[in-house]
Amino acid sequence: MVGRPNPGKVPVIPSVEERRMKAWRLHDRGDFRLEEVALPEIRPGWVLVKVKVVQVAVVDRGYLEGMPHPHQARIARMLAEGKPVQVGHEYCGEVVEIGPGVATLNVGDRVTSAGGQIHCGTCSNCLAGRESQCVSPLHIGVEIPGAFAEYMSIPEWGMVTVPDGPTDNEVAALQPLGICVSDVRSASIKMGDTVAVLGQGAMGLGCLQVAKLAGAGLLVAADVRPEALDLSLDFGANAALNSAETDPVGEVRRLTEGLGADVVFEAAGGRKQDGLAGFQTLQQALQMVRRGGKVFQVANLEGLLELDPVFLCSRSIKYLFPDPVTAENLSYAAFLVASKRIKVSPQITHVLHGLDKLPEAMEITVNKAKFRTSNPPQIVVG
Ligand SMILES: [Zn+2]
Repeated sequence: MVGRPNPGKVPVIPSVEERRMKAWRLHDRGDFRLEEVALPEIRPGWVLVKVKVVQVAVVDRGYLEGMPHPHQARIARMLAEGKPVQVGHEYCGEVVEIGPGVATLNVGDRVTSAGGQIHCGTCSNCLAGRESQCVSPLHIGVEIPGAFAEYMSIPEWGMVTVPDGPTDNEVAALQPLGICVSDVRSASIKMGDTVAVLGQGAMGLGCLQVAKLAGAGLLVAADVRPEALDLSLDFGANAALNSAETDPVGEVRRLTEGLGADVVFEAAGGRKQDGLAGFQTLQQALQMVRRGGKVFQVANLEGLLELDPVFLCSRSIKYLFPDPVTAENLSYAAFLVASKRIKVSPQITHVLHGLDKLPEAMEITVNKAKFRTSNPPQIVVG
């Protein structure tokens, strides 16, 4: 779905004020309100989507708590201009109305988005076919009001149709899995490669399963939570290391006869106050990867990082960040779930009903270890 029907030159269809909906909107840091607002405009090339299920992404919390966030400058600008921010971008929805010029979607289609970022279709990168590197994208949950609402309006080129197969709850969880597909593809795993995955949350478990399908040989999972490691073994890990009880670097070296892993996915780092590993697991990843191997940064790290370029250069270690997830990545993720090659539903442990449950869902997101869950909590909207 490349390109756009030049909506800037076509008059916007006025919203109908009598049509109202409920939506969570951020008015200032910590000031998050469930409000009744007008239904969003349906511009040419856009569609109106009824939200069925939405889940709380880690970045959604950032809006509430003022955490460092990729879009915080934009959010701050919007709030300063008195424009509330409506978050949420991991969702399953149904197209209920289409705007003029929509060519690829129909009323009744079940949809989700590959990522929060929607390419503009007109910048030099987009025109060169590098839509994932768009220089002026729109973001669902920032410029485009997001999915913690009964309805939202999105450009057709920002959505992916998901046919029957996965449940609505699984569709809402597809976006992180699409990122895992992108991560594993970016890693170019070769058949038989030893792969270590640090962190067995939703992203780690997704990378583990996709890496196995991509031909990984010895597959090593590490985490500090025994219940997460049980899932890792269910999903195909050959070894599950409890990093609270054993040194994962030493164990990976022992399992690889001293060489180290060909590819390491770092999916455990992040803020220590959130129960994440800070930079510790990245340093472990750099120590356990073999000479010439690859370390993939899956987790969202914050702050400035100390790296030793001499160590990295002398060992030819590639420290890599994947491209943003594409619609094709997400469609493939949907196929993997529909064909039962990848399991998502065992991770969906907390499903709440009603938009008013968002504070409870946020509480679970903040305390995933306490609630013994890896997938974000989900809310069934309607
Ligand atoms: Zn662009």
